[in-house]
Amino acid sequence: MSTDSRHAAALASLLGDSARVLTHPQTVEQLSRDFYWYSPVLRKQLDGKVGDLVVQPLNAAEIVNILRYCHAHDLAVTARGAGTGNYGQAVPLHGGVVLDLARMDRIEEIQPDGVAVCEPGVRLGVLENEARKFGWELRCYPSTIVKASVGGFLGGGSGGIGSVAHGNLRDFQTVRALEVVTMEAEPRVVLHEGQAVHDILHAWGTNGIVTRIWLALAPAVEWSQCAIAFATFAAAFDFSERIAGDPAWTKRLVTLFEWPIPSFLTPVKQYVPEGKALIFFLIAEAQCADLEAAARKQGGEVTYSGRYLGVRTRPLLSDYTWNHTTLWAMRTDEAYTYLQCAFDPATVRDQMRRLKERFGKEFLFHMEFWKAADGRMIPGAIPVVYYTTEDRLNDMISFCREIGVFVANPHVNNVEGGGRYRADNVQLLAKQRYDPKGLLNPGKMITFKRQEITR
Ligand SMILES: Cc1cc2nc3c(=O)[nH]c(=O)nc-3n(C[C@H](O)[C@H](O)[C@H](O)COP(=O)(O)OP(=O)(O)OC[C@H]3O[C@@H](n4cnc5c(N)ncnc54)[C@H](O)[C@@H]3O)c2cc1C
Repeated sequence: MSTDSRHAAALASLLGDSARVLTHPQTVEQLSRDFYWYSPVLRKQLDGKVGDLVVQPLNAAEIVNILRYCHAHDLAVTARGAGTGNYGQAVPLHGGVVLDLARMDRIEEIQPDGVAVCEPGVRLGVLENEARKFGWELRCYPSTIVKASVGGFLGGGSGGIGSVAHGNLRDFQTVRALEVVTMEAEPRVVLHEGQAVHDILHAWGTNGIVTRIWLALAPAVEWSQCAIAFATFAAAFDFSERIAGDPAWTKRLVTLFEWPIPSFLTPVKQYVPEGKALIFFLIAEAQCADLEAAARKQGGEVTYSGRYLGVRTRPLLSDYTWNHTTLWAMRTDEAYTYLQCAFDPATVRDQMRRLKERFGKEFLFHMEFWKAADGRMIPGAIPVVYYTTEDRLNDMISFCREIGVFVANPHVNNVEGGGRYRADNVQLLAKQRYDPKGLLNPGKMITFKRQEITR
């Protein structure tokens, strides 16, 4: 018996169910991958990285048993939600166990005060549908809503549709509380509430396995989708900025594309006039006609408008926004990749002008507005950039930073380099407390050193 088979047998016996310990090489490979291949840089680093086996727990008690075993045998454990992350966040660098949380998909309750209590494997789309039955909806969600899990969103996501009104996932106390299982000789289930949730959020599963979540919702709204084209990017930017920044408009999405990005969105090409900049909105149904009138007054052309009937709506405009835009660009030309930026609301036009002057068509503007924790409306962006060499990509990142554009670099495979690491080090401190051997998703929190353990 190989070491891997022995571990597989032992874990199956711990669970009392061998069907939830997967060892078939193709399955293990499939469940070891995410969307890291969006990045030509990460593709080179992460191709071929796989776990040794996959374990599918059903509850926190099973996770405690699994982690106790892995701790005793020095086995790495990489948590996995749906594997839609872009940074190789869920790709195991050192083999070991892939902990697939998809079966922990119970919604415990939607509380009357608008807080959902659920397990990590619940898909965001399922939670959205359930919440709406009680008059609530998600405050924000990634464009991968149908596939992505709540736990994966907490572990690796940032924000998305809804962030224009409610901020990103880590803001405005959207994550009220969570429970994590620690990686210790005797694993504990620890509750993190209030500010303490930030110890764990966006730590890529490096400092605890999230097993239960309290997620604040927003009152549900009846939405409409609307696509509006403008002859110039400048006119489209002015209009989208105005709607995003005016609280009188109830909106869930304000996405703006520079031409030729709209031409990449082939399934909705009938709503894409040649050569024009395009804006996609999710706007309160009651305000849709007013929005269209306001756009026409500014020279906009409404190319599509219709009720939003949930995540199965067709066309679903959000399928072309946030990081889905990059996917459509890559389908057009494999050399396209992306950056994740935040412009300065006060100087955004100047910043955009300087980027255009320097990089021209290599740097295409795809803007996503979101509300910052201090209430400012941020012209965020996931620009579609043309990849030639790593040096050129780094040049783009450096230039952005030089002119005051924040970049969360999606071409690195560690928490610290991704741009959302907390300067107060709470994620690292939690790793030192909860994973002293460094077995949780090892290699992804690079400032962690075993000898630094301070307990
Ligand atoms: C086409 C496309 C569009 C996207 N759009 C957006 C977007 O709009 N906004 C956005 O923020 N992101 C976006 N992403 C990235 C990704 O979809 C989101 O981050 C998503 O929330 C990840 O969920 P997941 O279940 O797939 O997580 P996974 O990829 O499985 O995991 C993400 C990270 O969380 C960790 N993790 C998973 N479960 C747990 C757990 N229970 N406890 C601890 N750690 C855990 C994993 O180890 C990994 O490090 C997009 C990706 C793609 C491919």
